[in-house]
Amino acid sequence: ALIADNIHKAFGDHEVLKGVSLSVARGEVVTLIGASGSGKSTFLRCLNLLEMPQQGELAIGLHRFAFGKGPRAPKDAQLAQLREHVGMVFQHFNLFPHMSVLANVTEGPVQVKGMARADADALGRDLLAKVGLADKADAFPSRLSGGQKQRVAIARALAMKPEVMLFDEPTSALDPELVGEVLAVIRSLAAEGMTMVLVTHEMAFAADVSTRVGFMNDGIMAEIGAPEETIRQPRSERLKAFLARFH
Ligand code: ATP
Ligand code: MG
Repeated sequence: ALIADNIHKAFGDHEVLKGVSLSVARGEVVTLIGASGSGKSTFLRCLNLLEMPQQGELAIGLHRFAFGKGPRAPKDAQLAQLREHVGMVFQHFNLFPHMSVLANVTEGPVQVKGMARADADALGRDLLAKVGLADKADAFPSRLSGGQKQRVAIARALAMKPEVMLFDEPTSALDPELVGEVLAVIRSLAAEGMTMVLVTHEMAFAADVSTRVGFMNDGIMAEIGAPEETIRQPRSERLKAFLARFH
């Protein structure tokens, strides 16, 4: 479903991604872990081209891009198309405050895809039911808890019917008692076979829900494998030291 090959990204002369590759099969859940500054968010942002890699290749569904010099560099229209196929959920949910919950979810399908309002509303209500918020369709975001806002943000991303969902620390900004309800939604998406790449510090959840866990260290994918290997039996000292913080 997604192949990133040898992705390089520098900000000025600071090389943040030093050739990161990741191939995610349909239905896989890959969790990325690693210390602050190791490049997890930058890599995720490269996967939906919020950041433009300077070198490497990216394939998502039928979309293929090569970066760097050459004729295959992506054009704006292609970028927009790619982003439609990749849903992203951030730490901070960025809902539109002046729109109802339902309008937040239907905005993308109506504005970007030109879906008829009635169809978008039906889709939006289905998705809100799926994230446990059927009764909040007409509420405004300011009336919701952080966990509820994040579930709306997930429904909003799903409304574009993405091929892949990316989550960047979706529970890090939440009060501890609200983390579980968001993880439960992500878990149910995994059970339905949604392809996902997730950055999280919730190690128990990662071990449980992931098909593979990747450890990013200093701009490279230092170790990747089944959670039984990477989380339970880490090989490198670096990963052992990183995981020790969570015990
Ligand atoms: P965290 O766990 O703290 O979220 P991370 O692994 O997600 O960390 P990134 O956010 O990808 O790390 O950042 C990696 C490095 O790239 C950091 O040194 C950061 O300062 C730098 N960086 C990220 N975005 C930019 C930017 N837009 N301009 C300059 N430097 C950036
Ligand atoms: Mg980050």
